[in-house]
Amino acid sequence: MAATILDGKVLAARLRATLATRVAALHFRPGLTVVRVGDDPASGVYVRNKDRAAQEAGFIARTIHLPAATTQAELLGQIAVLNADPAVDGILVQLPLPPQIDAQAAINAVDPAKDVDGFHPINAGRLASGQPGMVPCTPRGVMHLLAESGAPTRGARAVVLGRSQIVGRPMAQLLLTADCTVTIAHSRTADLPAECARADILVAAVGRPELVRADWIKPGAVVLDVGINRLLDGRLAGDVAYAEAAERAGFITPVPGGVGPMTIACLLENTLDAALARRAA
Ligand code: NDP
Repeated sequence: MAATILDGKVLAARLRATLATRVAALHFRPGLTVVRVGDDPASGVYVRNKDRAAQEAGFIARTIHLPAATTQAELLGQIAVLNADPAVDGILVQLPLPPQIDAQAAINAVDPAKDVDGFHPINAGRLASGQPGMVPCTPRGVMHLLAESGAPTRGARAVVLGRSQIVGRPMAQLLLTADCTVTIAHSRTADLPAECARADILVAAVGRPELVRADWIKPGAVVLDVGINRLLDGRLAGDVAYAEAAERAGFITPVPGGVGPMTIACLLENTLDAALARRAA
């Protein structure tokens, strides 16, 4: 039987509409500032999409575009200005950064209360220790999609493919918090298909097109595909062989149109959370 498709475009639109309603009821407009350094073309598209989504939902969206030759000291100086600006609720330093800048130093410089990407070590530590904090946008979006499936998480076996700081690790922490029994697999995992085949919930975040085959999937599983891979013919593919996997999974996210749209919606959700938390503090 074919899987039910978890449509990220529809869910993200619904989440953005809910956020817009909440923002309209406030006596202020939450502010999101994106700092972009240099001219990475993919970042340009992404930053424009963020700006548009934020404005449509009633946020004050601003992009500060710095030249590619910006020094680390100049970037840190800019971040310090934003940290001190009361109109700025969320700061996002768009990655990748040019090679002369230490990305971790830039991440560490953002006030954790304004770190809407959830990458600051303080927020990563809060997540790992089960305390409230800013959660990275993509894993947060995956949790929304998982909730949409209605599949129970308590006691479910979850396998996360990938252990990056921005997706795999925080994803595993969120699933653990949701009472899943979690396995994190990576490039050194001995038998990837066998690990995956035990998963009631499978999250793929490796960046390898169609790595996950249908026979790796437990029949009826929820398959959440974070991967975005550009193929030689220009098409986008996920980390899961979608057509065959959809014949076996219970629920599946497409690429594009699955996890991707949720990331920006969750950035707005994080910005609203940050704005409310700062004003309540
Ligand atoms: P990274 O490259 O930082 O991490 C990839 C992870 O996958 C690593 O842990 C790596 O293992 C593991 N891995 C790589 N190859 C294999 C393999 N053959 N078998 C098993 N594990 C493997 O990537 P990200 O986490 O940043 O991103 C992952 C994917 O998600 C990419 O396609 C990216 O474009 C996409 N993405 C999508 C977003 C969205 O909004 N939908 C947002 C962010 C990312 P090891 O640690 O051992 O090297």
